[in-house]
Amino acid sequence: MMNNLGLYVHIPFCAKKCGYCDFYSLERREDLMSDYVKALIRQMEAFSDTCSGKTVDSVYIGGGTPSILPHRLIADILSKVDRFYRLWGKAEITLEANPSTVNAVSMRAYRSSGINRISFGVQSSSNPMLQKLGRLHRFEEAVASILLAKEEGFDNISADLMYALPGQTVADFLSDVNALTSLPVVHLSVYGLKIEENTPFGRQKDLALPAEEEQCAMYLEGVELLKEKGFLQYEISNFAKRGYESRHNMKYWTRKEYLGFGPAAHSFLNGVRFCFPRDLQKYIDTVDFSPCVGVYSDTYRVTGREEWEEEVMLSLRTRDGCALETLHAVAESREALETYIKLITDNKYARIENGRLSLTPKGMLLSNTIISDLLVK
Ligand code: SF4
Repeated sequence: MMNNLGLYVHIPFCAKKCGYCDFYSLERREDLMSDYVKALIRQMEAFSDTCSGKTVDSVYIGGGTPSILPHRLIADILSKVDRFYRLWGKAEITLEANPSTVNAVSMRAYRSSGINRISFGVQSSSNPMLQKLGRLHRFEEAVASILLAKEEGFDNISADLMYALPGQTVADFLSDVNALTSLPVVHLSVYGLKIEENTPFGRQKDLALPAEEEQCAMYLEGVELLKEKGFLQYEISNFAKRGYESRHNMKYWTRKEYLGFGPAAHSFLNGVRFCFPRDLQKYIDTVDFSPCVGVYSDTYRVTGREEWEEEVMLSLRTRDGCALETLHAVAESREALETYIKLITDNKYARIENGRLSLTPKGMLLSNTIISDLLVK
């Protein structure tokens, strides 16, 4: 399909902030939820004319904790998506859910409002670790939620898992992978813990993080184990059974268009990137969300060389990698580029297939360095 669009809806509410989290979300603001959804609907309406020629083939309700929102508000959001946009009948519609906030009633309500993919923030199979991370659920609850989702008719179930956690060993992480892959999930997102400055973890001085070699071993052995279990890597942090790659997430790495609603939600539309600032009250108070008005920040049109650079940076995160001709278009010296490509392919950091350069798992561990090296050739 041509002219497709993904919609991202940010739900900036959480029951409690996790110790490591830098996402934009606020604790316990039930009082603002219904005004927030009204503002979301105003923003959706404001963009509907601009997007009238596009077909929405993915909707992603993320957060924050979307499942903390009463399910009638989720249904309201999706009915407005359907009213203001041309929503494809087979659109992928994802909801992120926290295992401690769902039950059979909400699951049924999600199904009937059109959600066909559910993504649980599981993070670990160890209860002491979940507690250390500041998560509200126990692993048994995550298992029960996943089984319930399956029972209620969700076939497309994803889970998030973290590694490089304080005190974690390679064996611990592999046992997390084993535990998750024995459940009816078809997609896993696996993220290494990053310590962000403005978080409780960032202020804690005595976090015993695994040594770097151990973190690398977790990633590489995790990738191997996931492969054995039938989960193929299609992006640095994403693994799926065949056919269950996330259509919405792929848009970010293939420079397809997406429109983000809510504070801190990023958009890429008609060649322009923009985002609404991380300010919930300002968002609720905004009356006019029209495209191109001053309420958005970080607005810039991507043109010329920047487009190619984005293409290199984003595509090299994926299994398919980057076309060699794109790399040549960006490079100033063909010879320097070819020497570098030979170096990384000889050392098994990358491979060439069908005229495309893609990173191996070992290369993905060094993706930032390799990508910036490639961009200065
Ligand atoms: S539930 Fe998710 S978004 Fe909310 S604080 Fe924890 S990690 Fe952050």
